[in-house]
Amino acid sequence: MSTLTAPQLINIATQFGTPVYVYHAEKISEQYQKLTDAFKGCDARVFYACKSLTNLNILKHVLSLGASLDCVSINEVKLGLMAGFSKENILYTPNCVDFEEILEAKELGVNINIDNISILEQFGNRFGGSYPVCIRLNPHIMAGGNFKISTGHVDSKFGISIHQIRHIERVVKTTGLHVTGIHMHTGSEIKDINVFLMGLNVMFSMAEHFPNLQYIDLGSGFKVPYQPGDPETDVNELGQKVAEAFAQHEKETGKKLQVWFEPGKYLVSQCGYLVVKTNVIKQTPATVFVGVNSGFNHLIRPMMYEAYHHIENISNPQGTPRIYTVVGNICETDTFAWDRTLTEVREGDYLVFYNAGAYGFEMSSNFNSRLKPAEVLVQDGEARLIRKADVFEDLLRNQVL
Ligand SMILES: *Cc1c(COP(=O)(O)O)cnc(C)c1O
Repeated sequence: MSTLTAPQLINIATQFGTPVYVYHAEKISEQYQKLTDAFKGCDARVFYACKSLTNLNILKHVLSLGASLDCVSINEVKLGLMAGFSKENILYTPNCVDFEEILEAKELGVNINIDNISILEQFGNRFGGSYPVCIRLNPHIMAGGNFKISTGHVDSKFGISIHQIRHIERVVKTTGLHVTGIHMHTGSEIKDINVFLMGLNVMFSMAEHFPNLQYIDLGSGFKVPYQPGDPETDVNELGQKVAEAFAQHEKETGKKLQVWFEPGKYLVSQCGYLVVKTNVIKQTPATVFVGVNSGFNHLIRPMMYEAYHHIENISNPQGTPRIYTVVGNICETDTFAWDRTLTEVREGDYLVFYNAGAYGFEMSSNFNSRLKPAEVLVQDGEARLIRKADVFEDLLRNQVL
């Protein structure tokens, strides 16, 4: 298991200042290897869902492993191309964007995943079968760690309902659209592999409607452990079952299909650490607060998703365990953790938040006119700066006086 040690993180904090996001390249490699090993029984392609962490250095590292890229905005597509991904290896999976952005993606030559009948129609009218497309379907499966990250249920804005298959067929038939893929993504943090298998069955039944189909994209939602003892999606079992299902499907239909995946969290959650410094210890009648030099402007997951991030006091690992409430320095309730046992925390101690790679820096903001932190990448034992921390001038950059 690739992990960064407390002394390594303290060195980085001392050298680059805090708060700081630290990523460990070897951990990303390890996760990628685990996933590709698990799916070696099928013709599988892994598209890294880069919205989880888009720093170009991370994209380049993921590219070097052999992965493709899943993008949800045209800017992510451009970042992917800049990082060196070829257009064939980029999948553009937007939601509720205007047709102009779809046109731009087509100009750039990437794979396009369409999740709206209106766009499907416009695309078909304009290009007929001259440019292949993938269709994002909503299989109506409720899954995921939290309602906010569930996307396959009936109230979700994502995908085209499988109950609209007749309408899709009409559009495809009248415009001559060339549909080479169908896609589903039912949410994040799904530990039950049956959700994927149920979804796959739905996708197989939809596949019958598309004679030119080459792949089925099962999206993502692989769960990684956030707290000690947390389960992880059993990718090995899933890989085996998916391989069997595809083999069976091939036997029944004579069609050999690829399977695509779009992991974000699975690849980059555990590679990341947010190191912060304790500004103050504040005793109140009810609790002891540890006030750190960060907040939900840097890591919003605990506030937004009630996510658990494991925290350790790396400056005092041998200290007496005590119970704390860990909060940020934002003028808004920004509690990272209630009633958390940490080894005794003193003002000036460094704390580390684990699992900070995915949706950490990416969801950061300048709320309270505070500055975004630096990002550091550790590779081959060496730490290097891959994004400078904001400076005051960055707050003024686009203001017009
Ligand atoms: C966010 C997203 C993913 C990645 O989800 P994770 O839970 O981070 O693995 C994959 N595909 C699409 C379309 C997404 O929107």
